[in-house]
Amino acid sequence: MEKMEKIVSLCKRRGFIFQGSEIYGGLSGMWDYGPLGVALRDKITALWWKHFVLDREDMYGIDAALIMNPVVWKASGHVDGFSDPLVECDKCKRRFRADQIKDLKICSECGGKLSEPRQFNMMFKTFIGASEDEAGTVYLRPETAQGMFVNFKNILDTFHPKLPFGMAQMGKAFRNEISPRDFLFRVREFEQMEIEYFIRESEWEKYFEYWRSEMKKWIADIGLKSSNIHELEVPEGERAHYSKRTIDFEYTFPFGRKELYGLAYRTDFDLKSHQTTSGVSLEYYDPSVDGQAGGGERFIPHVIEPTFGIGRTILAVLCESYDEDELGGETRAVLRLPKNLAPVSVAVFPLLKNKEGLVSKAREIYKMLKKESISVTFDDNGNIGKRYRRQDEIGTPYCVTVDFETLENDTVTIRDRDTGEQKRVKAGEIISAIR
Ligand code: ATP
Repeated sequence: MEKMEKIVSLCKRRGFIFQGSEIYGGLSGMWDYGPLGVALRDKITALWWKHFVLDREDMYGIDAALIMNPVVWKASGHVDGFSDPLVECDKCKRRFRADQIKDLKICSECGGKLSEPRQFNMMFKTFIGASEDEAGTVYLRPETAQGMFVNFKNILDTFHPKLPFGMAQMGKAFRNEISPRDFLFRVREFEQMEIEYFIRESEWEKYFEYWRSEMKKWIADIGLKSSNIHELEVPEGERAHYSKRTIDFEYTFPFGRKELYGLAYRTDFDLKSHQTTSGVSLEYYDPSVDGQAGGGERFIPHVIEPTFGIGRTILAVLCESYDEDELGGETRAVLRLPKNLAPVSVAVFPLLKNKEGLVSKAREIYKMLKKESISVTFDDNGNIGKRYRRQDEIGTPYCVTVDFETLENDTVTIRDRDTGEQKRVKAGEIISAIR
């Protein structure tokens, strides 16, 4: 089996990620998260929020509605320009993205003839209110960014921040991708974590470099090796309509080197366009500059945008962590997840299932760890070797076993996922030993 297949299969088997609507044959480009997938995702998003919002003084977190006034998408350029070139086979009717296939004439699947490329808008449409007509058409947001531009004035008016400052948001985005593929990599419903960092135009290069290095720090924090990361300077003709400079942070996935994150200099394109379209001033006022009549300076800030896909982060973390080792001639999977991201941090086992003293002591330890907000699981099913193996497969860094010695001297063993080493510690010292 190829590495990707193994990862997809592990995710399903162990309750990380399932095909969306699976019992109905699935729905292309949609995935559902099971308990371990939710736990992994929540650890990643909580770390991101702490790293980029809570630990900083210059960042304002927001959470805008998924559906916005459709004029937003006109002003942002998405209604007219958010499209990919599509070609269709006249025989099997399969559709392909013209910029992702080698032969633009012949269908790779059935040998049929491909149509001329046409632009296909990727925004999902729906209707608001009771009438399903043009006037009620709205879009599911294709990026979280616009929620921040549209709330820029609210942040200025309520918090009076000084430049430079940022707005951050995480949440769902929807794109009607022509060909979803590669598990979580290209999907139609996904989540983003985005920052719009507002600056003076004269300082864009400085802050572009600043965010480039901040993104690299984050990448290291989630355990992705720098040798698997490649920074691609996106050439002019290939950048989004709003961008004057873009760097894609690419990751070496098993299916090739592909964009993980993006960093773009969006200039003042969005705020300027929203100001013109809405008629509402989106200028920043700096009273300290003695520039204009009456003192102070009014201008539209420029913006640097670091953007992070959550699904692609999860996928990269899984690819980086997936490992196999041999035990007794058998190959077994181990997820060597960073300890702070593992869905379960500690598993607690009684050595034997039906020895009352062992079970009640293990339960007591389990409850104590839970009280400390440690993600912990209890397992008394099957022999201890099997239980270790099950925890290795989902990336649990530590297993605590309660055995007969526990009943004599109140010590337990703590087993480390990566070394397999077991240490005996006092039950009361489990937390400090782990931390
Ligand atoms: P691509 O070129 O791969 O389509 P993009 O350049 O259009 O991506 P952006 O518009 O920069 O992507 O979106 C920001 C981030 O959102 C990406 O870096 C990626 O992490 C994530 N993302 C974008 N599209 C998808 C998708 N279809 N599925 C999963 N994640 C996505």
